[in-house]
Amino acid sequence: MSRADVVVVGSGIVGLGAAYAAVRRGLSVTVVDRTERPVGATIRNFGHLCIGAQTGEARRYGDASRGLWLRLAQDAGFWLRESGTLVAARHDDELAVLERAARDGGIRMLDAAELLTRAPLRRGDLVGGALIEADLQANPREAADAIVRHLAGLGVDFRFRTAVTAVETGRVHTTRGPIDAGLVVVAVNHDIDQLLPGVAEDVGIQRCALDMMRVAADLPAPLTAPLLTGWSLVRYGRFGALPETAALRERLHAERPDLAALDLNQMYTQLPDGSLLVGDSHVKDVQPGPFQPEAAFDAFLDEARALFAADRFRVLERWQGVYASGPAEFLREQVADGVLAIAATTGIGMTCGLGLAETALSETLGWASSSALITAQEALA
Ligand SMILES: Cc1cc2nc3c(=O)[nH]c(=O)nc-3n(C[C@H](O)[C@H](O)[C@H](O)COP(=O)(O)OP(=O)(O)OC[C@H]3O[C@@H](n4cnc5c(N)ncnc54)[C@H](O)[C@@H]3O)c2cc1C
Repeated sequence: MSRADVVVVGSGIVGLGAAYAAVRRGLSVTVVDRTERPVGATIRNFGHLCIGAQTGEARRYGDASRGLWLRLAQDAGFWLRESGTLVAARHDDELAVLERAARDGGIRMLDAAELLTRAPLRRGDLVGGALIEADLQANPREAADAIVRHLAGLGVDFRFRTAVTAVETGRVHTTRGPIDAGLVVVAVNHDIDQLLPGVAEDVGIQRCALDMMRVAADLPAPLTAPLLTGWSLVRYGRFGALPETAALRERLHAERPDLAALDLNQMYTQLPDGSLLVGDSHVKDVQPGPFQPEAAFDAFLDEARALFAADRFRVLERWQGVYASGPAEFLREQVADGVLAIAATTGIGMTCGLGLAETALSETLGWASSSALITAQEALA
């Protein structure tokens, strides 16, 4: 029978964050995942770490994540840039939302000319925009694998192609036998309804399925940061509840019911190879279907053609991503003694996941000073 101080179920960004928090405190850590490497939401997203668009608990976790991302990028050696986030405003009501949010700091208003020096867009209807300064961009296709390699180098034991069938105080049951654990951290995203169905049902967690695509475009210049639009402003915590946002939402939905029906977040990031990640649509259900309507991809391409100063867009890939969706932005539940379940329950887990895991673990284990470490190890013995 093997044993670790901390056994983490799930090797997405939240599970990796938990493993990182525990191993830095000198604890032995095993991470179990049923796939052969991370292939869940953590590699299927935009790589947009949209810290400055959050508020409340999400902002706290986002701020905590920022330093962890920067340190991991350096230590694990993966691409990350302190790009900020650009927002393109094509209507005065979008500018009004940005101006109102900018009063609280961390957002710099841009005129249309400044925006065009940072993003290869058509002049078209642009009325200006903004830069959300604290934000980062990662390449989601390489970050998780690099973090796995780095954590393995720090001594974390990864058990891939091993499904967890049950968790209880002090033990994790897997398809390759049980593992004894001081602390169990369940970080399985939407699959919480399979491993801990009672928790998922009590909290009201379902799945949110998103369509995404990657395109090659003949852009005249690089996109220097993730790019949001008015459709993003109505979603993110910092903007969503502003009084100005109600009018924006109403106009967008009245003008484009087709895009509203897709629950569109029109946004883009450019990968280091120059291709653009384009998305995304949202369908929430206990079990969304696997079939991706072509109408969503047509809309992505039409909207990209209207926004970017490019004539040719060639689709390179399409995929579906899924994340947990619940009534609150996060799940943090002690489901039994020494068993924690954590998840981002809206689409901000790349932004907040490392900070969520760090906070949950630090509150459970204490800091890694030698005395705190002894306390933590004694607590787990
Ligand atoms: C299309 C898309 C775009 C997004 N864009 C952004 C963005 O730009 N910025 C942002 O902040 N967030 C974004 N998100 C959200 C973000 O990607 C997720 O919130 C985050 O990746 C969730 O991380 P996770 O570790 O909880 O889940 P995952 O990465 O899905 O990892 C969960 C892991 O648990 C494993 N697992 C499940 N059940 C078991 C079991 N029983 N036994 C063993 N292993 C198990 C799975 O195999 C998986 O590897 C996006 C999400 C999607 C889908």
